[in-house]
Amino acid sequence: MMNKKSRARTRHRRAHWKVDVPVLVTCANTDCGLRTPPHAACRHCGMYRGRQVMPPA
Ligand SMILES: [Zn+2]
Repeated sequence: MMNKKSRARTRHRRAHWKVDVPVLVTCANTDCGLRTPPHAACRHCGMYRGRQVMPPA
């Protein structure tokens, strides 16, 4: 049985929500060097671990 939560309780819980910090690393491709998520192909140049895995955007 879920009891009705007071407004204060709800707000207190939501106060602990954090916006995810965008995790970005610099692209290993020296010609690109843009910020890209780690462990994913770079969106800008399509390179991942030194290989072209996607067509460059
Ligand atoms: Zn790149």
